[in-house]
Amino acid sequence: MVHDTIYSSPKHTHHFHLFPHPPSPHPTQSVGVALDPTTRAIVVDQYSRTNVPSIFAIGDVTDRMALTPVALMEAKALVKTMWLNTPTVPDYHEIPTAVFCQPPVGTVGLTEEAAVETLEGDIDVYVTKFRALKQTLTGREEKTMMKMLVHVPTDRVVGVHMVGAYAGEIMTPMAVALKCGATKKQFDETVGVHPSSSEEFVTLSTKTRTVVGKGKWVGGRL
Ligand SMILES: Cc1cc2nc3c(=O)[nH]c(=O)nc-3n(C[C@H](O)[C@H](O)[C@H](O)COP(=O)(O)OP(=O)(O)OC[C@H]3O[C@@H](n4cnc5c(N)ncnc54)[C@H](O)[C@@H]3O)c2cc1C
Repeated sequence: MVHDTIYSSPKHTHHFHLFPHPPSPHPTQSVGVALDPTTRAIVVDQYSRTNVPSIFAIGDVTDRMALTPVALMEAKALVKTMWLNTPTVPDYHEIPTAVFCQPPVGTVGLTEEAAVETLEGDIDVYVTKFRALKQTLTGREEKTMMKMLVHVPTDRVVGVHMVGAYAGEIMTPMAVALKCGATKKQFDETVGVHPSSSEEFVTLSTKTRTVVGKGKWVGGRL
């Protein structure tokens, strides 16, 4: 069933239709909104507009990246586009993610596999495994693993991955660094907090291996 709500601003009145998340029976079909035949997600363009020009869709129903902050980003972009006269495309680059298992997993940027597919030229891979200082005090054997990918021709850090305590916390500031195009040299020049796990990301000195990128990216926006 389609549910109508009305948003009013001093200048505009907007009618919204809220649709249940696929794959429940989809009222969008009754108004002609196109769905992806495989995922049943609502198909949208880069401004979140469906094939019906007056209908927009954001968040999980569009199956672009099913995360709460991504839905918020899409909402903010839509508000700018529709009401602030600033057409804005959501930016899906360097979105950090975490799995809150024990130990947690955190990641931002390219995986090694994606880096090889996307980048041109050598990619240095740094991997470190250690027992965090805190664990030495508690006597637990739990290890932390960190991995960093560096595109050698540009020195850009293109991927940061971690399994270990606070991985979910550490990935947001890492995402800021990657979004700013941080280089390995800039990581190396950064002073970390001691004792902490995150300081390992600024003291990685011995590369584990070098792999060769088979893609076309040589710099600029990833
Ligand atoms: C188990 C689980 C764990 C998750 N963990 C994380 C996490 O740790 N971090 C993270 O970033 N994301 C997580 N997510 C994903 C995150 O919840 C979603 O990406 C996010 O909620 C999407 O927001 P949304 O507004 O698109 O959809 P929703 O949050 O699903 O909101 C849609 C709303 O619309 C309502 N609705 C549906 N149909 C109608 C209708 N016809 N009329 C009126 N109301 C309607 C629904 O009841 C619901 O309240 C998790 C998801 C699940 C299922």
